[in-house]
Amino acid sequence: MTTSIEDAAPVARQRRLRTEIPGPVSRELQERRSNAVAAGVSSTLPVYVTSATGGLLTDADGNVLIDLGSGIAVTNVGHSAPAVVDRVRDQAGRFTHTCFMITPYEGYVAVCEALAELTPGDHAKKSVLFNSGAEAVENAVKIARTATGRQAVVVFDHAYHGRTNLTMALTAKSVPYKHGFGPFAPEVYRVPGSYPYRDGLSGPDAARIAIDRIEKQIGGDQVAAVVLEPIQGEGGFIEPAPGFLPALSAWCRDNGVVFVADEVQTGFCRTGSWFASTHEKVVADLVATAKGIAAGLPLSAVTGRAELIDAVGPGGLGGTYGGNPVACAAALGAIETMRTDDLAGSAKRIESLVLPRLRALATETGVIGDVRGRGAMLAAEFVKPGTQEPDADLTKRIAASCHSQGVVVLTCGTYGNVIRLLPPLSLSDALLDEGLAVLEHAVRTESRA
Ligand SMILES: *Cc1c(COP(=O)(O)O)cnc(C)c1O
Repeated sequence: MTTSIEDAAPVARQRRLRTEIPGPVSRELQERRSNAVAAGVSSTLPVYVTSATGGLLTDADGNVLIDLGSGIAVTNVGHSAPAVVDRVRDQAGRFTHTCFMITPYEGYVAVCEALAELTPGDHAKKSVLFNSGAEAVENAVKIARTATGRQAVVVFDHAYHGRTNLTMALTAKSVPYKHGFGPFAPEVYRVPGSYPYRDGLSGPDAARIAIDRIEKQIGGDQVAAVVLEPIQGEGGFIEPAPGFLPALSAWCRDNGVVFVADEVQTGFCRTGSWFASTHEKVVADLVATAKGIAAGLPLSAVTGRAELIDAVGPGGLGGTYGGNPVACAAALGAIETMRTDDLAGSAKRIESLVLPRLRALATETGVIGDVRGRGAMLAAEFVKPGTQEPDADLTKRIAASCHSQGVVVLTCGTYGNVIRLLPPLSLSDALLDEGLAVLEHAVRTESRA
């Protein structure tokens, strides 16, 4: 085995700023990038990463940053979690690909068995594996349409489901996800969801409005699937009011409609349980997962009622890379880590540490209209003081200030006015505290500016 300088370097244990952010080496790489990489792919914080462990990123200038984004809720087990790295190394040394559709292997089966066990509900379940969240959601729709013989798909305001043609149609926000990319797939219908801070409605009332819209404008017997995020991600970390999800789930059951939970961002212990649907005891017919499933290796899945999944005949589902053996090995390592380290419990602890501080900050500064979230999926929505008017500019300045101090935070929201926190669930209390202190300072300073 060869040993590189990086291998010999000590593992970073704390935030360290050696240069301005981004530093000279990152800026040089950014220059190279601008000549070679499509402008359509953007980066929140263009520091070029050379290694990462736990909740810390080390960049090409030797800066060490605290990661409160987990690559968008992906590295739930932390960067380079030992069980993931060991299994990936071992699998890569044995074989990297055969194509499960040609000659199969055990890892794929083991991931599907784990998904059957971990997703909500004790009915008979099966799974099919893909590479990305969008692919999983798209295939859930294919399955629902085949199983029901119907075509219409219902989605919600502020929804995000991906960037492929069908999932663009399912996604709500135009710029940057859809603008100029039409025509979009037909038979997709958008209805109001539940956004307690802005609609002021109870869950059952919001559900009644949505259901009335579906029945009057589409017809319940035309609907193949209702697709929703139990907590909306890109749309603004919007947690529906209690009762909204159960009411929709019950309506789907009564009308023979497939209820699809898009748990791509909320899954795998992120919200303090394996899946966010659990908080309201909702059992979806199909669950789409990705992001946290394999600690960063590309893997996604549709898991659900065996009879629905098996409605599609042989050859109807799949893909060259779907359920790649190295990605499956990573998933098995990630799931093992979540179990043995009780990362759902860690997510709850993160919630109990962060929410009170964000609430205090809201009272103190007057620029945070709403603090919300569950587990380690937490957010502050920024508004002009005394109003509900979104303040995207302030949000951007606060995020930029955190970045300059070596703390990675992400924004989201239809109005671009939400700072979201998605720390690795394994993040130490000390690093979390330090990251929050930087965020608090940024909010105080920028809200006075
Ligand atoms: C990220 C995301 C997707 C799309 O996943 P990709 O892997 O980027 O295709 C779909 N749904 C939700 C809720 C997401 O957060």
